[in-house]
Amino acid sequence: MLPDFDLWCEFSAVFPIIASIEAGRYLITAGLFSVVIWAFWRNHYSARKIQSRNAAPEDYRREILASLRTALVFSCVGFGMYVAYRLGWLTIYQDFTIKGPVYFILTLAAMILAQDAYFYWTHRAMHHPRLFRSFHWTHHKSKTPTPWTAYAFDVPEALLMAAFVPLWVAIVPMHDLAIFSFVTWQIVRNVMGHAGVEMHPVSGKPSRLFGWWNTTTHHDLHHQNGSSNFGLYFSWWDRWTGTEHPDYQAEVAAFAMCPIRRKKPTRVGAKVAAIGALTLGFCGAIASDANAQAGSAIAGNWATNGFGSIVQFRPCAGSPETMCGRIVWLWAPNDNQGRPRVDNHNPDRNLRVRSLIGVQIVRGLRQTAPGVWGDGSLYNPDDGRTYTGAIQVRNGSLELRGCALGVFCQTQIWRRPNDVLQAVRGLEP
Ligand SMILES: [Zn+2]
Ligand SMILES: [Zn+2]
Repeated sequence: MLPDFDLWCEFSAVFPIIASIEAGRYLITAGLFSVVIWAFWRNHYSARKIQSRNAAPEDYRREILASLRTALVFSCVGFGMYVAYRLGWLTIYQDFTIKGPVYFILTLAAMILAQDAYFYWTHRAMHHPRLFRSFHWTHHKSKTPTPWTAYAFDVPEALLMAAFVPLWVAIVPMHDLAIFSFVTWQIVRNVMGHAGVEMHPVSGKPSRLFGWWNTTTHHDLHHQNGSSNFGLYFSWWDRWTGTEHPDYQAEVAAFAMCPIRRKKPTRVGAKVAAIGALTLGFCGAIASDANAQAGSAIAGNWATNGFGSIVQFRPCAGSPETMCGRIVWLWAPNDNQGRPRVDNHNPDRNLRVRSLIGVQIVRGLRQTAPGVWGDGSLYNPDDGRTYTGAIQVRNGSLELRGCALGVFCQTQIWRRPNDVLQAVRGLEP
């Protein structure tokens, strides 16, 4: 120990600062993203909600308390790093001119890549039955992640995560600003990965250029099933080792509705405004139509009766020979009070608070003859009833026939959004 180094004196002076920074960067980042999601909920993010379930208030409480405990663990490790630095054991430097900007950028990039690998393999280890309960249990209590899930770790997991920084800095000389940039990147990406809504721009098909960049859906699927998608920032480890979720590409492509680019139609007459809304609002829906899977006449987007909503059909998760459909767009996404519409007629009281967008209303359709799909169920959120019946493709439209309890029977015709657009365009003067 250095002769002029009074451990207790240093602790009482430095630890409160480190603890404030650690707790502060979690609270500020998670708070900031919560506000952004809330502010853009109506216009952008309600259509990008990944799960139909909502996190309960007790989930938020547990996540925030566990995350603050993690911040305390990180602060202890941070103080240990401070002592090690004072003792000359760590290779942190402050003078930017010593190694220059290229070294700064390369070491920062290398640190991020190394942590991504460190996370993937330690994460997989924590899922081993012998370690899961003591290391990773708390984090997976969050089945529906929120920005506040970011640091919800058990203490052993928090220590394991914190250990990476001193291990790296003991080996690679780092500028202190590069370490600050790293921890900022780390909390921002971590909060984004748990946001519960897809925050990344996504396209309808896997991108060669950005396919290696993990989206929010990627980590959300990990919280839903726990047996795939172990990666942190990048997808290559999951791809190389075969642990990527089989539905990941389809799940993330479902958000290719380009709401980030959506603009408000200007008031130039009701008809033109309606066409504008269709054109702008359905940019992704139409693109998704084009991506309708070959061999399946019902895959892709369908506008329901009266254009109240768009339902997207695709193979059911875990049962690719059957088709499922979920609501991806609503003509009126909000109720009279301006709140996002929810599944308020559902017979299950617990589901009445879930957002209507994202609800799977068609399940388990099986092709029984060319152009005919049966054995499925159709949930009607307008009355909360589930109908059994069949769907038939007729002249490019879908004819749905179904009965609930053998008494309440309905027939509906759904059309491709593009076909409706073409018909509306015909009304233009
Ligand atoms: Zn997580
Ligand atoms: Zn996990």
